[in-house]
Amino acid sequence: MNLPRVGIVKFIILGKITFMRNELNLIANRQFDLLVIGGGITGAGVAHDAAARGLQVALVEQKDFASGTSGISSKLVHGGLRYLEHGQISLVYESLQERGRLLRNAPHLVKPLPFLLPVYADSRVPAWKWRAGLKLYDLLAGFANIAPSKTIAPFDLRKQNLPWAKFPPLCLQYFDAQMDDSRLCIEVIEAASQNGAAVANHLEVTALDLFPGRLSRIQMRDCLTGEQIECESKVVLNATGPWSDQVRKLAGETGPDLVKPTKGVHIIMSDVGLNAAMLLLHPKDGRVFFIIPWLDRTLVGTTDTEWDGQLGKVSATAEDINYLVDGFTHFLKPGVKPEVIQSFAGLRPLFNADASPSSRSREFKLHLGSNGLFSAVGGKYTTYRAMAEEITNALCKKLGNHNRCTTMNALLPGGYAIKRKGFEANGTKELGWKYGLNTIDAMHLLNRYGKRAGLVAQYCLENKMLAERIDPQLPDLMCEFAFHRDFEMARLPDDFLYQRTRLGYLLDDQALEKVRTRVAPFCNNYQS
Ligand SMILES: Cc1cc2nc3c(=O)[nH]c(=O)nc-3n(C[C@H](O)[C@H](O)[C@H](O)COP(=O)(O)OP(=O)(O)OC[C@H]3O[C@@H](n4cnc5c(N)ncnc54)[C@H](O)[C@@H]3O)c2cc1C
Repeated sequence: MNLPRVGIVKFIILGKITFMRNELNLIANRQFDLLVIGGGITGAGVAHDAAARGLQVALVEQKDFASGTSGISSKLVHGGLRYLEHGQISLVYESLQERGRLLRNAPHLVKPLPFLLPVYADSRVPAWKWRAGLKLYDLLAGFANIAPSKTIAPFDLRKQNLPWAKFPPLCLQYFDAQMDDSRLCIEVIEAASQNGAAVANHLEVTALDLFPGRLSRIQMRDCLTGEQIECESKVVLNATGPWSDQVRKLAGETGPDLVKPTKGVHIIMSDVGLNAAMLLLHPKDGRVFFIIPWLDRTLVGTTDTEWDGQLGKVSATAEDINYLVDGFTHFLKPGVKPEVIQSFAGLRPLFNADASPSSRSREFKLHLGSNGLFSAVGGKYTTYRAMAEEITNALCKKLGNHNRCTTMNALLPGGYAIKRKGFEANGTKELGWKYGLNTIDAMHLLNRYGKRAGLVAQYCLENKMLAERIDPQLPDLMCEFAFHRDFEMARLPDDFLYQRTRLGYLLDDQALEKVRTRVAPFCNNYQS
């Protein structure tokens, strides 16, 4: 197949031509103000903020961007209604304000999502408490509120397409937002790169010689080619989430662990026709869990249990899956049996504290080791930008940089400042007449790439096969693979199938095998 490799794109009105380059010579033997270890959302947020303030920044990730915790979250940009029960009002307030900013700065990746909160007779939390909690949630959101919470009348509830659920005596509704977690992380890294940061994936930090107050030396290995490189940096930030203590030890730090991870599992089930997400209390232990519509499937999660196994080996056990299936089926009418398609598991990098997993704080902490290594641990995805601002303030203080944070109102690369409906209506027309895309394909690209959809669609002009679907059942198009290769540093098949699209999570083994042969020509061949 003829695969165009587009250097200079011919004409585009929907997006700016910028692409990340994975060139080791941008990092090797260079000096930086700040080296960020870890390409999850914490590292991405700091690299973006720091580069925008004019620091010389490098970000390195041992696998693919967002392949750690940041790609396996519940995909909710939320205030965290349940944290109100633990009195974490300031965390909820900050999260709700950040939710508002993300809806504005990345409207293609973060979208409002209604939540139903059915209150059954045997509910652990009484109706009055839910009502009071939702009122407080509305108040804390203030001007950033998506829509006020309300009670849904039984008549209206019948319109909610819930023929499969047990009918609750009372149902409340509120709004939060849903994100594409791995793509959001990649766009934040792209924003860092647009601001001058040097970024690399599949590049593992293997040794750290830290000299506080002087340049530190960092050794790295390209995990795909085996090439070893070195660079120097005035400050080093360890943003490796669950791996934080491993990297601290690599840098010679001793002392108690900063992170006590908990395992979170989700199951993907066949579509039950949800129009809204649902917040439910598990019948076994009263914990909050969610049923969420996701890419025409139903996402059920999550668990929250202690984890002291190996970091790279986390997986869902039969016990985890049964816990989620039991929780879901408890609320189903007899005879309704959605099928489990897949499961995925990850680790919450929570701050080490003596508390049960669910009540352990979701706040973050910035730790400065005696060797000068900064480690950022804890936090939530939703508050990544605010967290990054606080961390970058501390790093700038150390470096004597007095520039202020500018990310609060910065659109991400695919972001657009006009109303969603107008953008979609104009965008579908434009992608139709310029690149010959039908409305469904055009909407798919606009929803995933925002104003950069034109950069993806333009490959279809070069090769008609790139306008085809990757799998007949799913909306993903072949031209996306070309874009991921040229603009987003996808290198291995899994980079394309798990972080940039979600095909790996949605297809059965047979269909996935076929897709692997379709993606293979887009991957470079590496010698190890
Ligand atoms: C099941 C689950 C559901 C969640 N749901 C939500 C939610 O809905 N909303 C929300 O706001 N939050 C949610 N969270 C929390 C959120 O996902 C995390 O707080 C966040 O993703 C952590 O990001 P991070 O960048 O700190 O860590 P990670 O995303 O894990 O990134 C750390 C990176 O460091 C890399 N690394 C490690 N060692 C090295 C090395 N030596 N060299 C180079 N790179 C290295 C790793 O490969 C990894 O990619 C959830 C968490 C879990 C587990």
